[in-house]
Amino acid sequence: MKSEDIDQLKDRFLKEVKKENSSKERKKICKRYIEEELSSVFCSLKNLSGERKAEIGKKANELRKLISDLLENEKEKVFQAEKEFDITLPGKNVELGSIHPITKLQKKCERIFLRMGFAIAEGPELENEWYNFDALNFEEDHPVREMQDTLFVKQKNREELPSQERFLMRTHTSPVQVRYMKDREPPFRIIVPGRVFRNEATDSSHEINFYQLEGLMVGENISVANFRSVVGYFFKELFDADVGIRLRPSFFPFTEPSFEVDVSCSICEKKGCSVCKKTGWIEVMGAGMVHPNVLRSADVDPSYFNGFAFGLGIDRIAMIKHKIDDIRLFYSGDLRFLRQF
Ligand SMILES: [Zn+2]
Repeated sequence: MKSEDIDQLKDRFLKEVKKENSSKERKKICKRYIEEELSSVFCSLKNLSGERKAEIGKKANELRKLISDLLENEKEKVFQAEKEFDITLPGKNVELGSIHPITKLQKKCERIFLRMGFAIAEGPELENEWYNFDALNFEEDHPVREMQDTLFVKQKNREELPSQERFLMRTHTSPVQVRYMKDREPPFRIIVPGRVFRNEATDSSHEINFYQLEGLMVGENISVANFRSVVGYFFKELFDADVGIRLRPSFFPFTEPSFEVDVSCSICEKKGCSVCKKTGWIEVMGAGMVHPNVLRSADVDPSYFNGFAFGLGIDRIAMIKHKIDDIRLFYSGDLRFLRQF
């Protein structure tokens, strides 16, 4: 046997394989060459002398490698083809997702306010200190500016930068009040739903992020009575019940006067239950008449215009509505929880 015999064998094999259109036949040819033609070559090697044995043996091995690779390739092709076209295989189950309970509630709130002529506004989640604090009449040394409450962005020589260039993750949706008013002429009637961030140790009622819904109405001669009427209608629609409204005095830097808003507990109808902590009332919102300094920050003249603003936690309302006792469930991605909505 000569080394040219192997070259011829290879040529013959390639010719035969190329002629064949069916994968099944190509596999047959490969098998025949490995099991018959090549094995007889390997058998006859033992009769050859050292040097030729090595040379022909090497070539025969290369050819066997080429053929078995081709065979593997054909097998894979057939396997793929069968996989793709076997209509008797059971179908893949495509799981349909659903809308997150927070998003669902946010959309419901939006629909109610849209019916009252409010527009929906948005603002950035990465905010600067001026919009988040200064423009909203926060004192320079207000405790919320401290590290434990706010997620500040690390910046070189931060202390030397003006507050417009010092960044943080917004702690509330209120900066959008000023952002919105700055570019426009009153009157305004907007809501701002969005995600806010706090530097919190998480527990059943605290998360590092949650959703707020901000409201703002500014115009001529806006009063607390207007506010009461708007939020009264909103909560009636939201809870789908004839809920009562109660305002309690409070303090926020960006409103004067400020109040906490309670709604009567629709679960126990004011008799007292675990959701309302036996009081018959549930705290749902912080609000007040927009502070003149906030209007000035937005270039709105407080001698002509006034208005009210409010903020509510969408997560909190969802917890009340669905009797959920741990805020962390909303962000856990646990399907056992999410499938209930
Ligand atoms: Zn109750």
